[in-house]
Amino acid sequence: MRTPLETKQFRVMPGDDLKEILKEPGKILREGGLVAFPTETVYGLGGDAENAASSRKIYAAKGRPSDNPLIIHIADFSQMEAIAQELVPEAKILADAFWPGPMTMIVRKNDRIPMETTGGLDTVAVRMPSHPVARQLILTSGCMIAAPSANTSGRPSPTRAEHVSDDLAGKIDAIIDGGPVEIGLESTIVDLSDGIPTVLRPGYINLRMLEDVLGQDRVRMDPGLMEENTRLRPKAPGMRYKHYAPRGDLKIVEGSEGDVVETINRLSAKAIEEGRRVGIIASSETKSRYLQGDIAEIGARSDDKAIARHLFGILRRFDDDGIERIYSEAFDTPRMGTAIMNRLIKAAAHQVIRAGRRVTRVIFVSGRGVCRAPMAAELMRRQRLIRPVEILARGRLVLFPEPINQKVQAVLQGKGMELADYESRVLKNEEISDTTLVFTMDAAQRADIIQRFAGADENNTYVLSYYVGDELDILNPYGGNLQQYGLCFEVLNQTIGKLAVKLNETAGSLSESKEERI
Ligand code: AMP
Ligand code: MG
Repeated sequence: MRTPLETKQFRVMPGDDLKEILKEPGKILREGGLVAFPTETVYGLGGDAENAASSRKIYAAKGRPSDNPLIIHIADFSQMEAIAQELVPEAKILADAFWPGPMTMIVRKNDRIPMETTGGLDTVAVRMPSHPVARQLILTSGCMIAAPSANTSGRPSPTRAEHVSDDLAGKIDAIIDGGPVEIGLESTIVDLSDGIPTVLRPGYINLRMLEDVLGQDRVRMDPGLMEENTRLRPKAPGMRYKHYAPRGDLKIVEGSEGDVVETINRLSAKAIEEGRRVGIIASSETKSRYLQGDIAEIGARSDDKAIARHLFGILRRFDDDGIERIYSEAFDTPRMGTAIMNRLIKAAAHQVIRAGRRVTRVIFVSGRGVCRAPMAAELMRRQRLIRPVEILARGRLVLFPEPINQKVQAVLQGKGMELADYESRVLKNEEISDTTLVFTMDAAQRADIIQRFAGADENNTYVLSYYVGDELDILNPYGGNLQQYGLCFEVLNQTIGKLAVKLNETAGSLSESKEERI
């Protein structure tokens, strides 16, 4: 362990003489030290961008992976010209429209900025901040300031000076407290280094605003950011890492307002019953409808700038309060929704619950579909379900339709159940809708189905017994005597009873399922 640094605190209030107050922090930067400062987006951790040793210190203080480059903060367009290779025309267009402001451009670099600052890349990220303290600090120090967000790597970005102290006190030379920031999410990053301008990180400046100045087809989103695309990686190194994560387990609940409130209330009640501390991130509109837990009002849906501004602070407060389970509404608002959901989904490690999606069909699948699957289906049809569900029996390997196994028929008859007209059928992909649950009798069948059927995945296809909390497979009685078939019936009967209880408890909601996004 290194001995902790004494972290000097500076405070600026409206009306203060910035030039005077920032003299000392400016000197610290010039001499290779680290200074955290407010910008309009989030607090930055600054060092002299041209000093490789300063950049190394930034990585060390944050615990940041060394291949994740820093953004260089400038106060004049000529500084970008000084560190970039020849600029494409879009650079000037974007600077005229959005600088000073919350937009970062990636351009090809020359030799002036060391590789330590750009994480080994031959491109460089540049931004001209509008915050008066940030601007004056650049001017007073005489440095271009390399600054990532002033948080410990992986934690939510700091939107107040106290957040910076919590993470970095003792590790950096100074913190300038300029009060809470205005925007609360990091800058929009636009890549100009490679073909059509591409948004690598969404932010306050949204795609529409960029299209307005560059033209409709002259800017696009990084396909690696798109939710449908799980194969491509985001181009900005920082967007690939685990990020913004609170210590508690965060899940996003999306759906209609009523379904979301109902689901969050149900999940919270369950977690609290299990002795967990629960936090809820609610909009102003729905806040009063939550029944228990620590309810954080993030802002009105009609004011998504407020939502953006409060997000990271709430995640940090929940950490401070030892919150273990966090349920958040989704905020797909028109103006900043893309940026908000990008951060929230990362913070939730992609755990998105779709509220109000109810199971409409249950398919039991066994090998040939003549024994366990039809027995399970018939038992299920006799359960009392709160919400109606279509129940099917299918086989994985059905060459031609067969009637039910004779011993199964005998066991069923003994229980007053009969399946005289049954014919086995093979499972088809079209039968697995997005509100279907598929149950197999053992793990090998499950793996096979998930592999072979596009519609089947970890979130809708389960081993029947595991789904209800048992650990044994439903053994195939094939070739056994009547008693063994009877035993199989009893096991299935119990298991199906538990399944019905589980479906009724969750009101048939598919909401426990996770969704992989981005
Ligand atoms: P931070 O300011 O902490 O949000 O980190 C800066 C962000 O900018 C990270 O996501 C980086 O990966 C991204 N970035 C910085 N320089 C480059 C570059 N040359 N190419 C792509 N992304 C970059
Ligand atoms: Mg960051």
